[in-house]
Amino acid sequence: MKISMISEHASPLAALGGVDAGGQNVHVAALSIALARRGHRVTVYTRRDSPDLPATVRVQPRLEVVHVDAGPATHVPKDELLPFMGALADGVVLHWGGEPPDVVHGHFWMSGIAALDAARRGPAGFRVPVVQTFHALGTVKRRYQGADDTSPAERSFLEPSVGRSADRIIATCSDEVFELKSMGIATGKVSIAPCGVDLELFSSEGPADARTRAHRILSVGRLVPRKGVDLVIRSLPYLREAGFDDVELLIVGGGAGADGQDPEARRLLDLARDLGVADQVELRGQVPREAMPGIFRSADAVACTPWYEPFGIVPLEAMACGIPVVAAAVGGLTDSVVDHATGLHVPPKDPEAIAGAVAALLSSPALRRKLGQNGERRAKARYSWSRVAAETETAYQLAIAGTAQSSSLEPMEGAAL
Ligand code: UDP
Repeated sequence: MKISMISEHASPLAALGGVDAGGQNVHVAALSIALARRGHRVTVYTRRDSPDLPATVRVQPRLEVVHVDAGPATHVPKDELLPFMGALADGVVLHWGGEPPDVVHGHFWMSGIAALDAARRGPAGFRVPVVQTFHALGTVKRRYQGADDTSPAERSFLEPSVGRSADRIIATCSDEVFELKSMGIATGKVSIAPCGVDLELFSSEGPADARTRAHRILSVGRLVPRKGVDLVIRSLPYLREAGFDDVELLIVGGGAGADGQDPEARRLLDLARDLGVADQVELRGQVPREAMPGIFRSADAVACTPWYEPFGIVPLEAMACGIPVVAAAVGGLTDSVVDHATGLHVPPKDPEAIAGAVAALLSSPALRRKLGQNGERRAKARYSWSRVAAETETAYQLAIAGTAQSSSLEPMEGAAL
């Protein structure tokens, strides 16, 4: 198949861990590579955000990234990119020339707009089938972030419209299917294909980084409030009360590093100081991908405690490294982390519950080992990118065949280990 991916803000080539760079960059990169390995020809279109970027980067023989001129050639926050989607579609159609792809796959709602626009402009009488992955939904964001949601107002009607117009939608977790349904989108055209994890990079085999205290809790991700890193800091005094004071919390991620310039980093450091746990907290800043497995393996537990989470690749990476996950029971985490099997679920926004779950793990090496081993097995069985690519390919075939076949509300295969 000839496949076009559109990922307007999340270049697969971008550095990870900045405010707007995270799971979507990893997802688009890994999925494209896995599809190319299956013999497909993949082009990823992303917005040029620097004048120095070459027009085209060939990543592998069957995979290229095209930087499209759409808006200023500088970083623009993703929520301000809507006006440039027409130009992005123009660039995509121009690059297609007279040879449109078999399918165009939009990532994030704005890319969906560009994908639908480009798809309509194929050769006369031919509309390229459009598959859409939202990665995050505006309704959910608005519910949790309220007035802090910086999405453009148009998202409230454009996003559902993308959902209605796309030939097929790929939801990354079962929770998303219900959200789509409540947006008025026919779930018969929804497939579930989760995010995957790079099992060649992330595994329990290999060295672990050193730590400075008896125990280490790890938090990884973009430093934005909704990731709930502050909740893990707030759990430290409860852990102390429970007798676990020789515990360090390593926080990895954040565009501006740990120099205090990043407002969220500042807020977290101030909070740690106010709670009297500053000496237990380290903000490491952004870490390159290759360094992540050793960091995961150095932890007793990985805390993923967001307010909400469309999917969450970090828990998969932790599981693949054989480390138990303390997971807020929200969104994609309820699919990926199996309570008392690969980690422990906690209610959202509950530092005391986080401390309780971490204490249970710290006090029992046997429990840590069991959950870690189960997690690694589950990651390998369910979340390889080759498997996710095969499921995505099926969704493409359904879109191409114009079939609105329901596969969405079957129980997740991963419900068992
Ligand atoms: N990540 C990284 N270095 C960092 C911070 C994060 O490589 O300093 C990676 C992390 O390992 C994961 C991704 O960024 O692969 C974050 O994905 P996730 O889906 O968990 O969160 P998102 O950013 O999409 O909300």
